[in-house]
Parts: sequence; structure tokens; C-alpha cells
Amino acid sequence: MSTFTANFATRVRAFTVVLVTTCIGTAHATEFTDCLLNLQSAAQSAGVNKATYEKHTQGLQPDLTVLQKLDYQPEFKLAVWDYLAGLVDEERVTDGKQGLAQHADTLKKVDEKFGVDAATVVAVWGVESNFGRAQGKYPLTQALATLSCMGRRQAFFRGEFFAALRILQGGHFAPEKFVGSWAGAFGQTQFMPSTFERLAVDFDGDGRKDLIDSAADALGSTANFLKQGGWQSTEPWGVEVKLPEGFSAALIGRKLKKPVAEWARLGVARVGGGALASGGVTANASAALIAPAGVAGPVFLVFRNFDVIYGYNASESYGLAIAHLSDRLRDRGAFVTPWPTDDPGLSRAERRELQTLLTKRGHEIGEIDGMLGEKSRAAIEKEQARLGQKVSGRAGAKLLAAMR
Ligand code: CA
Repeated sequence: MSTFTANFATRVRAFTVVLVTTCIGTAHATEFTDCLLNLQSAAQSAGVNKATYEKHTQGLQPDLTVLQKLDYQPEFKLAVWDYLAGLVDEERVTDGKQGLAQHADTLKKVDEKFGVDAATVVAVWGVESNFGRAQGKYPLTQALATLSCMGRRQAFFRGEFFAALRILQGGHFAPEKFVGSWAGAFGQTQFMPSTFERLAVDFDGDGRKDLIDSAADALGSTANFLKQGGWQSTEPWGVEVKLPEGFSAALIGRKLKKPVAEWARLGVARVGGGALASGGVTANASAALIAPAGVAGPVFLVFRNFDVIYGYNASESYGLAIAHLSDRLRDRGAFVTPWPTDDPGLSRAERRELQTLLTKRGHEIGEIDGMLGEKSRAAIEKEQARLGQKVSGRAGAKLLAAMR
């Protein structure tokens, strides 16, 4: 084939790619615009007036990156030990203790008003937004409009889209400040818009429910959420337990409740010894067993409060991250039973160290932020291949040790 033909073929291919991409883009944009027009009457029925709707939707383009996020949620995709290694690390415990000290007065008032203790409230704050530092950068109207018109949970997201527009209509936040997660959660508590409407409180008394800039409002609102969910101030979230030999795995599951006395009769015992019904746990308290990594890993007897935390974000790994961080803030140690892996997950400090080592080896991974995105994963795969390790793209202790 002559050079001319090859170049021509390449150019035709390139042109075709551009043409197809543009057509898909235009099709998306047209469909999106039609969808937004179609949603206007439903929005009005939901209390969003015409002027508000038009102001925030005219010329709006979809953000297709939120659809990728919809199909990748770390709390469901990561091994529980990897998920917890990043969320409950020494850094977050230290920052959490600092938050407890800094907001001691507010947290005392929060406990008095809502009956939710400081360690729990601060643990939610730490996991949700890294104590207010990571609130998300997606413009909420755009993210929620996209999820209302595309993807697999449109009905749910439409409710949140309309709630977001009602919040803007009420003047609670300036539109440019109204940013958050890809899914529409925002502020230091990462409330969904409808949750903001139902449960946010003005705890610092300045007349605004400001979950974005007021830590006091965020802490109060978190406690209000947990209280409304049925928080039991005298009961712990759960305790780590050990199971007797031959225990039936069929009895394990968050919804399989039995009274504590019944679990004790079945041989379930605290890992540290002592009566199962002690330390705020009564013999008739309703409890269930969870084994996030199977019976070879830590097993927990969980009470009502674990379900309340689960209500914040329906994932057992998430619930355990909050629960465990709250225990660490109470100066309780790590779990007694190790995770069933010989390659533990990495803390954020270790992830940053790994990213630094990857950069030194010439990989382009972007910012060294402890967040292992696509570029980091690709670099990890290359290093795993070079080191003769299993190529998984996962960052674990073995890879970090080999790279050191
Ligand atoms: Ca306020």
C-alpha cells in the first residue's frame, strides 16, 4: 500500500470517528434537551416554578462521567479490607480526635438535643466528607439532571433533581456553591437534596441550614438524621464476636434478628471475653450477625444503631467504616480477628507513598492524592507485571513492599 493510500485511509478513518462521535454527542444532547423539556411539568407539580426550572436547565449539557460513576461504587466493588484501610486509617483517627476537641461544645449540645454521641457524629462527618474537606465538585443540577434522563435509576434521581431545584428556589445556596458528589449528595454531611429538606437543621442559629460552610449545622444535621432513624443512645452499634465450632452460616445476615440472650445460647461470645449482654447491651436487645469477609474474618453482632448507620448509605462496608471509626475515636483498638488476606489494604499515607514511587519509576499518574484513579491503576498493573505479581491493578501491602 502506498503512503498516500495509507494516509488517506487513516484520514478517512479519523474523519469517520469524528463524525460518529459528533453524531452520538448530538443525539445525546438532543435527547437530553427533550428529556428536560418533558420533565418540566412534573417539576412544577413537585413545587419547582417555571422561572426556577428554566433558569437552571436552559442550555444545560449532560455530564456523562456521572453515568460511569453510577456503575462503579467502591463500597460495593472493593474488598471490605481495602475499603476500610483507606477510610479508617491513623490519619482519619487523628483528624477525628482533633475535630472532637475543636467542636467539643457543639458536640455536647448535639448529644443533649439528639441523644447521639460525639464519636458517632464525628465518624460520619469523617467518612462522608473527610471532616468537611472533600464535599465533591460536581455541579448538582447538572449531575442530577443527567441521572434523571440517562442511566438506570432515573425515577429516583428525578425526585432528587426536583428537590435540588426547590433548594435553589428557596435561596438556601448560591448556584455556583451548590456542588457535591456525582450522585447529588452535598455538604459536610453529604445529604441528598431530599434529605436536606427533611432533616437538615440550623444548629449554629444563624438562620440558615448551611451544610456546606457550617460544621455545627453539619454535625447537628447528622445527629438529627441518626435520631430520626431510631438511634439508641444507650446501646453500642455492635460488638466483635467469635462463633462456636460448627456454627451455621445460615444464621448470619443483617436482617436475621434474634434477642442477644438467644445468640448467647447459640454460643456467640465477645472476642474479648465477658458476658454478651453487658456494656449497654441487654439480654433482650434485637441483634444480628454480620461477617463482611465471611466467617474466616471478623464477625460482628450488630444492634439497632448499625441499621441506623446503614440508613445513611445502604452498604455494610460503609456502616462498618463509620462504626469502626467511632470506636477508634473512643480509643478502642483495631478488630481482634484479622481480615482473611495475606495482602492487606493501604492507608491513604501508604497510597500516597505508592503514588510517589510510581511517579519515580516514570509513570504519569497525575496528582499524588492518595486516591487511586484510573492512571494509578494502569501504572500499578505495569509494575505488577514487571515484579512478577498477579496483575490486578489493586494497591496492596505486597506491591508497596516490593516497590520500596
Ligand atoms: Ca446555620
